[in-house]
Amino acid sequence: MNELQSFVFESLSIRGTIVRLNETWQQVVAQHHYPEPVERLLGDGIVATILLASGLKGHPRISLQLQGNGPIRLLLVQCSGALEVRGMAQWREDLADEALLGDGRIAVNVDPENHGPKYQGIVPLAGTTLDQCLEAYFDQSEQLATRLYLRCHDSGVSGLLLQALPAADDASDALATLAALAATVTGEDLQRLEAETLLRRLFASYTLRLFAPRAVTHDCRCTAEHLAGIVRMLGAAEVNDILDEQGKVELTCEFCNRSFRYDEAAIATILAGGISTPPMH
Ligand SMILES: [Zn+2]
Repeated sequence: MNELQSFVFESLSIRGTIVRLNETWQQVVAQHHYPEPVERLLGDGIVATILLASGLKGHPRISLQLQGNGPIRLLLVQCSGALEVRGMAQWREDLADEALLGDGRIAVNVDPENHGPKYQGIVPLAGTTLDQCLEAYFDQSEQLATRLYLRCHDSGVSGLLLQALPAADDASDALATLAALAATVTGEDLQRLEAETLLRRLFASYTLRLFAPRAVTHDCRCTAEHLAGIVRMLGAAEVNDILDEQGKVELTCEFCNRSFRYDEAAIATILAGGISTPPMH
Protein backbone atom coordinates (compact mmCIF):
# COMPACT_ATOMS: atom_id res chain seq x y z
CA MET A 1 0.00 0.00 0.00
CA ASN A 2 1.59 3.23 -1.16
CA GLU A 3 -1.24 5.68 -1.21
CA LEU A 4 -2.82 8.91 -0.15
CA GLN A 5 -6.47 8.80 0.89
CA SER A 6 -8.33 12.04 1.50
CA PHE A 7 -11.71 12.39 3.19
CA VAL A 8 -14.08 14.98 4.68
CA PHE A 9 -16.40 14.87 7.62
CA GLU A 10 -19.89 15.52 6.31
CA SER A 11 -21.47 18.52 8.02
CA LEU A 12 -18.19 19.53 9.69
CA SER A 13 -15.74 21.92 8.04
CA ILE A 14 -12.90 19.49 8.57
CA ARG A 15 -10.93 17.45 6.08
CA GLY A 16 -8.44 14.68 6.56
CA THR A 17 -5.81 12.61 4.79
CA ILE A 18 -4.16 9.28 5.42
CA VAL A 19 -0.80 8.41 3.86
CA ARG A 20 0.68 4.93 4.11
CA LEU A 21 3.87 3.79 2.44
CA ASN A 22 5.84 0.60 2.38
CA GLU A 23 7.63 -0.26 -0.91
CA THR A 24 7.90 3.42 -1.84
CA TRP A 25 9.47 4.09 1.53
CA GLN A 26 11.87 1.16 1.20
CA GLN A 27 12.97 2.45 -2.20
CA VAL A 28 13.80 5.87 -0.73
CA VAL A 29 16.03 4.45 1.99
CA ALA A 30 17.56 1.64 -0.09
CA GLN A 31 21.37 1.92 -0.56
CA HIS A 32 21.76 4.39 2.30
CA HIS A 33 22.30 2.25 5.41
CA TYR A 34 20.78 4.93 7.63
CA PRO A 35 20.88 4.33 11.37
CA GLU A 36 17.40 3.37 12.52
CA PRO A 37 16.43 6.70 14.16
CA VAL A 38 17.48 8.56 11.01
CA GLU A 39 15.55 6.16 8.81
CA ARG A 40 12.45 6.67 10.95
CA LEU A 41 12.72 10.43 10.92
CA LEU A 42 13.18 10.42 7.15
CA GLY A 43 10.05 8.26 6.95
CA ASP A 44 8.16 10.77 9.08
CA GLY A 45 9.47 13.57 6.86
CA ILE A 46 8.29 11.87 3.68
CA VAL A 47 4.83 11.11 5.07
CA ALA A 48 4.55 14.66 6.45
CA THR A 49 5.53 16.20 3.11
CA ILE A 50 2.86 14.21 1.28
CA LEU A 51 0.30 15.16 3.94
CA LEU A 52 1.29 18.81 3.50
CA ALA A 53 0.86 18.49 -0.25
CA SER A 54 -2.58 16.90 0.15
CA GLY A 55 -4.18 20.13 1.36
CA LEU A 56 -2.83 22.39 -1.36
CA LYS A 57 -4.81 23.33 -4.45
CA GLY A 58 -3.61 22.40 -7.92
CA HIS A 59 -1.14 19.63 -6.99
CA PRO A 60 1.96 21.81 -6.55
CA ARG A 61 5.52 20.55 -6.28
CA ILE A 62 6.55 20.75 -2.65
CA SER A 63 9.74 20.33 -0.65
CA LEU A 64 10.49 20.14 3.03
CA GLN A 65 13.95 20.99 4.30
CA LEU A 66 14.93 20.63 7.93
CA GLN A 67 18.26 21.95 9.16
CA GLY A 68 19.32 21.67 12.77
CA ASN A 69 22.21 21.55 15.18
CA GLY A 70 21.06 18.24 16.70
CA PRO A 71 22.11 14.77 15.55
CA ILE A 72 20.11 15.31 12.35
CA ARG A 73 22.00 17.87 10.30
CA LEU A 74 19.75 17.92 7.26
CA LEU A 75 16.55 16.29 6.09
CA LEU A 76 15.33 17.00 2.58
CA VAL A 77 12.17 15.62 0.97
CA GLN A 78 10.70 16.54 -2.40
CA CYS A 79 7.29 15.57 -3.72
CA SER A 80 5.96 16.25 -7.22
CA GLY A 81 2.40 17.12 -8.14
CA ALA A 82 1.93 13.49 -9.18
CA LEU A 83 3.10 12.32 -5.71
CA GLU A 84 6.53 11.13 -6.82
CA VAL A 85 8.80 11.42 -3.80
CA ARG A 86 12.49 11.36 -3.03
CA GLY A 87 14.34 12.24 0.12
CA MET A 88 17.64 12.09 1.97
CA ALA A 89 19.07 12.76 5.41
CA GLN A 90 22.48 13.72 6.78
CA TRP A 91 23.35 13.08 10.39
CA ARG A 92 26.13 13.72 12.87
CA GLU A 93 27.80 10.89 14.70
CA ASP A 94 26.11 11.23 18.05
CA LEU A 95 22.68 9.62 17.74
CA ALA A 96 22.43 8.55 21.35
CA ASP A 97 20.75 11.81 22.26
CA GLU A 98 16.97 11.52 22.53
CA ALA A 99 16.39 14.93 20.94
CA LEU A 100 17.24 14.21 17.32
CA LEU A 101 16.29 17.58 16.00
CA GLY A 102 17.99 20.21 18.18
CA ASP A 103 17.60 23.87 17.28
CA GLY A 104 17.12 24.84 13.70
CA ARG A 105 14.40 25.48 11.19
CA ILE A 106 12.05 23.83 8.75
CA ALA A 107 11.48 25.41 5.37
CA VAL A 108 8.55 24.34 3.22
CA ASN A 109 8.74 25.38 -0.42
CA VAL A 110 5.62 25.24 -2.56
CA ASP A 111 5.90 25.54 -6.33
CA PRO A 112 2.53 25.54 -8.11
CA GLU A 113 4.53 25.41 -11.39
CA ASN A 114 2.28 26.99 -14.03
CA HIS A 115 -0.58 27.78 -11.66
CA GLY A 116 0.85 30.57 -9.51
CA PRO A 117 3.91 32.00 -7.79
CA LYS A 118 6.24 29.98 -5.61
CA TYR A 119 6.21 30.59 -1.89
CA GLN A 120 8.12 29.51 1.17
CA GLY A 121 7.14 29.10 4.81
CA ILE A 122 9.76 28.83 7.52
CA VAL A 123 9.21 27.76 11.12
CA PRO A 124 11.72 27.21 13.90
CA LEU A 125 12.24 23.66 15.08
CA ALA A 126 9.93 24.34 17.96
CA GLY A 127 8.87 20.92 19.16
CA THR A 128 10.68 17.75 19.93
CA THR A 129 8.95 15.84 17.15
CA LEU A 130 8.28 16.55 13.52
CA ASP A 131 4.50 16.42 14.10
CA GLN A 132 4.70 19.28 16.60
CA CYS A 133 6.96 21.39 14.41
CA LEU A 134 4.66 20.99 11.43
CA GLU A 135 1.51 21.79 13.38
CA ALA A 136 3.27 25.07 14.23
CA TYR A 137 4.00 25.50 10.51
CA PHE A 138 0.32 25.22 9.64
CA ASP A 139 -0.69 27.63 12.38
CA GLN A 140 1.83 30.25 11.25
CA SER A 141 2.11 29.83 7.51
CA GLU A 142 -1.19 28.45 6.32
CA GLN A 143 -3.29 29.72 9.23
CA LEU A 144 -5.22 26.49 9.25
CA ALA A 145 -5.77 24.58 12.47
CA THR A 146 -4.14 21.22 11.80
CA ARG A 147 -3.36 18.05 13.70
CA LEU A 148 -0.77 15.63 12.46
CA TYR A 149 -0.05 12.05 13.59
CA LEU A 150 3.03 10.30 12.19
CA ARG A 151 3.45 6.61 12.86
CA CYS A 152 5.92 3.96 11.94
CA HIS A 153 5.64 0.22 11.94
CA ASP A 154 7.90 -2.67 10.97
CA SER A 155 6.43 -2.76 7.50
CA GLY A 156 6.29 0.95 6.71
CA VAL A 157 5.58 4.53 7.62
CA SER A 158 2.25 6.30 7.76
CA GLY A 159 0.41 9.33 8.98
CA LEU A 160 -2.95 10.96 9.50
CA LEU A 161 -3.77 14.64 9.14
CA LEU A 162 -6.89 16.50 10.25
CA GLN A 163 -7.40 20.09 9.16
CA ALA A 164 -10.05 22.77 9.52
CA LEU A 165 -11.14 24.01 6.11
CA PRO A 166 -10.36 27.66 5.28
CA ALA A 167 -12.98 30.01 6.73
CA ALA A 168 -14.22 27.35 9.13
CA ASP A 169 -14.82 29.57 12.16
CA ASP A 170 -16.62 27.01 14.25
CA ALA A 171 -14.33 24.04 13.71
CA SER A 172 -12.08 24.25 16.77
CA ASP A 173 -14.25 22.24 19.20
CA ALA A 174 -14.98 19.61 16.59
CA LEU A 175 -11.31 19.44 15.64
CA ALA A 176 -10.30 18.94 19.27
CA THR A 177 -12.77 16.06 19.62
CA LEU A 178 -11.65 14.40 16.38
CA ALA A 179 -7.99 14.94 17.31
CA ALA A 180 -8.46 13.02 20.56
CA LEU A 181 -9.81 10.09 18.54
CA ALA A 182 -7.12 10.37 15.87
CA ALA A 183 -4.36 10.34 18.47
CA THR A 184 -5.25 6.74 19.31
CA VAL A 185 -4.38 5.48 15.83
CA THR A 186 -1.54 2.96 15.73
CA GLY A 187 1.08 2.37 13.06
CA GLU A 188 -0.17 -1.18 12.72
CA ASP A 189 -3.77 -0.12 12.04
CA LEU A 190 -2.62 2.48 9.55
CA GLN A 191 -0.56 -0.11 7.69
CA ARG A 192 -2.97 -3.01 7.74
CA LEU A 193 -6.56 -1.79 7.59
CA GLU A 194 -8.51 -0.72 4.55
CA ALA A 195 -8.97 3.05 4.63
CA GLU A 196 -12.72 2.83 5.01
CA THR A 197 -12.52 0.28 7.83
CA LEU A 198 -9.88 2.30 9.63
CA LEU A 199 -11.77 5.57 9.40
CA ARG A 200 -15.12 4.09 10.40
CA ARG A 201 -13.44 2.49 13.39
CA LEU A 202 -11.59 5.65 14.47
CA PHE A 203 -14.46 8.06 13.90
CA ALA A 204 -17.38 5.72 14.52
CA SER A 205 -20.04 8.33 15.25
CA TYR A 206 -19.22 10.60 12.29
CA THR A 207 -20.27 10.47 8.68
CA LEU A 208 -17.33 10.55 6.31
CA ARG A 209 -16.94 10.93 2.59
CA LEU A 210 -13.86 9.33 1.03
CA PHE A 211 -12.26 10.50 -2.21
CA ALA A 212 -10.47 8.28 -4.69
CA PRO A 213 -7.08 7.19 -3.36
CA ARG A 214 -3.93 8.39 -5.16
CA ALA A 215 -0.77 6.33 -5.59
CA VAL A 216 2.54 7.55 -4.15
CA THR A 217 5.69 6.43 -5.98
CA HIS A 218 9.44 6.87 -5.64
CA ASP A 219 11.13 8.74 -8.46
CA CYS A 220 14.65 9.97 -7.95
CA ARG A 221 14.85 11.86 -11.27
CA CYS A 222 18.59 11.14 -11.62
CA THR A 223 18.11 10.30 -15.29
CA ALA A 224 20.82 10.19 -17.96
CA GLU A 225 19.61 13.62 -19.13
CA HIS A 226 19.79 15.10 -15.65
CA LEU A 227 23.26 13.68 -14.99
CA ALA A 228 24.50 14.95 -18.36
CA GLY A 229 23.27 18.39 -17.35
CA ILE A 230 25.38 18.23 -14.18
CA VAL A 231 28.48 17.27 -16.17
CA ARG A 232 27.91 20.22 -18.52
CA MET A 233 27.33 22.55 -15.57
CA LEU A 234 30.71 21.57 -14.12
CA GLY A 235 32.23 22.74 -17.41
CA ALA A 236 34.72 21.22 -19.83
CA ALA A 237 37.82 22.53 -18.01
CA GLU A 238 36.92 21.07 -14.65
CA VAL A 239 35.61 17.78 -16.06
CA ASN A 240 38.77 17.29 -18.13
CA ASP A 241 40.91 18.00 -15.06
CA ILE A 242 39.06 15.25 -13.20
CA LEU A 243 39.52 12.88 -16.17
CA ASP A 244 43.27 13.62 -16.25
CA GLU A 245 43.63 12.98 -12.55
CA GLN A 246 41.34 9.99 -12.09
CA GLY A 247 40.76 8.58 -15.54
CA LYS A 248 36.99 8.76 -14.97
CA VAL A 249 34.28 11.05 -13.70
CA GLU A 250 32.04 9.69 -10.98
CA LEU A 251 28.79 11.34 -9.88
CA THR A 252 26.88 10.20 -6.82
CA CYS A 253 23.20 11.05 -6.50
CA GLU A 254 22.68 12.29 -2.96
CA PHE A 255 19.06 11.15 -2.95
CA CYS A 256 19.37 7.52 -4.03
CA ASN A 257 23.08 7.18 -3.21
CA ARG A 258 23.83 5.48 -6.52
CA SER A 259 27.10 6.30 -8.23
CA PHE A 260 27.48 6.74 -11.98
CA ARG A 261 30.87 6.44 -13.68
CA TYR A 262 31.74 8.07 -17.01
CA ASP A 263 34.83 7.33 -19.08
CA GLU A 264 36.53 9.73 -21.46
CA ALA A 265 34.38 8.79 -24.47
CA ALA A 266 31.15 9.28 -22.48
CA ILE A 267 32.32 12.67 -21.25
CA ALA A 268 33.19 13.73 -24.81
CA THR A 269 29.70 12.73 -25.95
CA ILE A 270 28.07 14.71 -23.15
CA LEU A 271 30.22 17.80 -23.62
CA ALA A 272 29.31 17.72 -27.31
CA GLY A 273 25.65 17.98 -26.26
CA GLY A 274 24.77 14.30 -26.32
CA ILE A 275 23.49 11.90 -23.68
CA SER A 276 25.36 8.90 -22.39
CA THR A 277 23.60 6.32 -20.29
CA PRO A 278 26.05 5.91 -17.44
CA PRO A 279 26.95 2.51 -16.13
CA MET A 280 26.07 2.33 -12.48
CA HIS A 281 28.82 1.66 -10.05
ZN1 LIG B 1 19.12 9.34 -7.60
